[in-house]
Amino acid sequence: MSKLSTFAQTRAEELSSQWKGTNFLGGTTKNFIDGEFRESTTEKWIDVLDPATQTLLSRVPETTSAEFESAVESASKAFQSWKKTSVLKRQRFALDLQALIRQNMDSIAHTRARQDVCRSVRRHISIPYAQGDVLRGLQVVEFACGIPTSLIGEKLEVSKDMDTETRKVPLGVCASIAPFNFPAMIPLWTIPVAIVTGNTLIIKPSERDPGAAMMLAELCQRAGLPNGVLNVVHGTVPTVNAICTHPKIKAISFVGGNRAGQHIYELGTKNGKRVQCNMGAKNHAVIMPDANKDQALNALLGAACGAAGQRCMAISVAVFVGAAQNFIPELIARAEKLQVNQGFEKGAEFGPVTTPAAKARIVGLIDSVEKEGGKILLDGRNIQIANYPNGNFVGATLVEVTTSMTAYKEEIFGPVLAVMNVGTLDEAIELVNTNPFGNGAAVFTQSGPIARKFETEIEAGQIGINVPIPVPLPMFSWTGNKGSFLGDINFYGKGGINFYTQTKVRI
Ligand code: NAD
Repeated sequence: MSKLSTFAQTRAEELSSQWKGTNFLGGTTKNFIDGEFRESTTEKWIDVLDPATQTLLSRVPETTSAEFESAVESASKAFQSWKKTSVLKRQRFALDLQALIRQNMDSIAHTRARQDVCRSVRRHISIPYAQGDVLRGLQVVEFACGIPTSLIGEKLEVSKDMDTETRKVPLGVCASIAPFNFPAMIPLWTIPVAIVTGNTLIIKPSERDPGAAMMLAELCQRAGLPNGVLNVVHGTVPTVNAICTHPKIKAISFVGGNRAGQHIYELGTKNGKRVQCNMGAKNHAVIMPDANKDQALNALLGAACGAAGQRCMAISVAVFVGAAQNFIPELIARAEKLQVNQGFEKGAEFGPVTTPAAKARIVGLIDSVEKEGGKILLDGRNIQIANYPNGNFVGATLVEVTTSMTAYKEEIFGPVLAVMNVGTLDEAIELVNTNPFGNGAAVFTQSGPIARKFETEIEAGQIGINVPIPVPLPMFSWTGNKGSFLGDINFYGKGGINFYTQTKVRI
C-alpha cells in the first residue's frame, strides 16, 4: 500500500489529534448521538481510502439499528425543547457557528483535499476548490443568521375586529442524506436552515468522506447547540432505508445520484414524509460564434474538469454553433496542458476521482464512445502521475458524441467533456431541452438578444450567461429541475425555510 506524501501525512496527524469524531490515520469515524462522539458497535465497516495513494484514512461504520434508534430518540427528545427556544437564541447559534467555521476553514477544507482532492481549473482563481466547498456552505449559515426576518409572518385585518395571521412552525425530526462531492457544503445546505427554523436533524454524510460533517457537528456543539438537536449517523442503504421508513422522521433532504434519489423519494413519500431530492445532471454549454473565445474556452475547461468533473453543475456537454466549431482545436490544445496531480502538490489543477470504481466507470464510458462510433479528441484514460502510481487519476478527456450514445445519455462525473456541433441556436436549444436532466445550462455570446432568447427558452433550472457554473447564492434557492430534481420545495434560501416549516394560520 502506498504512503501519503509528507505534507499530507503531517496534516492527517494534526487533524486526527484536533477533532473528536473523525480520523485520517486509519482509525474510526464516530457516530454523533445525543451530543457524544460514540464508537459504533457495528461489525460492518467501510474503508475510506486516499484517492491518490489508496492509503487507509478512516473506517466508517454501518450504524446499527440500535444506534440509529437512539439518534432518532435523542432528536425527538431535543425537539420538545428546541422548538420552544426563542428565534433570537437560534439566530445566536447561527452567528456563532459562522464565526467558528471561518476560524476552522482550512482544517475542514483539508479533509476534503485529503479525501477527494482538487483545485479549481479556473486559473485566475487562486482559492483551492476545497475551500470553495466550505465557503459556499458558510454562505448558507450566513443566510440562516437572518432567520428572525425570514420567519416574519403575514397579518391582515380581514374584517372588523378580525385579523388573520400566519406563522411558520418547525416540522420535527428531519434527516439529510449527502453525497461525497461537496462534503462540507451539502451538509451545510441543510444543517443551519433545519436548525434555525426549530427542527432537529439527523445527518447521514457520504460513507466515502464523512470527515467534514463530523467537524461541522463538533463546531455546532462548540457553538452551544444543545445535545440531540444535531445527530450524525453513517452507512449505506440500510441506514438510508431506516431514515425513509422511521415514523418519527418528518422530512428528508437528499442530494446525490438519480438511482438513490428516486428510491429515497418513493420510499420517503410512501411513508408520509416531505422529501426533496437534488440529483444528477448533464449540463450543456452553448458556444455561439460571437463568443469571447478566450473567456469561453477557459470557462468551459474549468467547468468541465475542475474537481475532476465531480460536480453536479460541471459542464459535461459543449455545443458549438456554426463557426464556433473553429474553436475546438484550441480547446483541445488547452485541455492537454491541464495539470493533474495530488491536490496538495504545487500546480495541481485537478486531482484523482473518488474511488477506483469511479475511475473504472469513467474509463468504461470513454471506451463506449469508441465502440459506438464516436471520436476521442483527447484521451485521459492512461494518464500516469509521478509519485502516485496507484491514484485514481483520469486526465482531461474530450469526446465527440451524438445524442444516442451512452456517454451522452449518462452522467459521467469525471473530467470528460462531450463536444457536439449544430448549425443554429434553435437547434442547440432543442438539443439541450430534449435532454432529460435540468440542473444547469450556459450560453457564451456577446449578443443581448441571443442571451435573452436562451434564458427564455431553455428549460434547465439554472442558467448562466457567460457564467459556466450558474449556482445561486443562498438568498436565492437551488433550482435544478426536470430529471435533476424530485419534490416541490427547493433547497436553501426561501425554499429552504418553506421546506423545513409548515404554515399555521390564526384567525
Ligand atoms: P450517491 O447517490 O452514490 O450517494 C448519495 C447518498 O445516497 C450517499 O449518502 C449514499 O450513501 C446514499 N446512497 C447511494 N446509493 C444508494 C442506494 N442505492 N439506496 C439508498 N441510498 C443510497 O451519489 P454520490 O456518488 O455520492 O454523489 C454524486 C452524485 O450526486 C452525482 O450524480 C451528482 O450529480 C449528484 N449531486 C447532485 C447535486 C445537486 O444539487 N443536484 C449536488 C451534488 C451532487
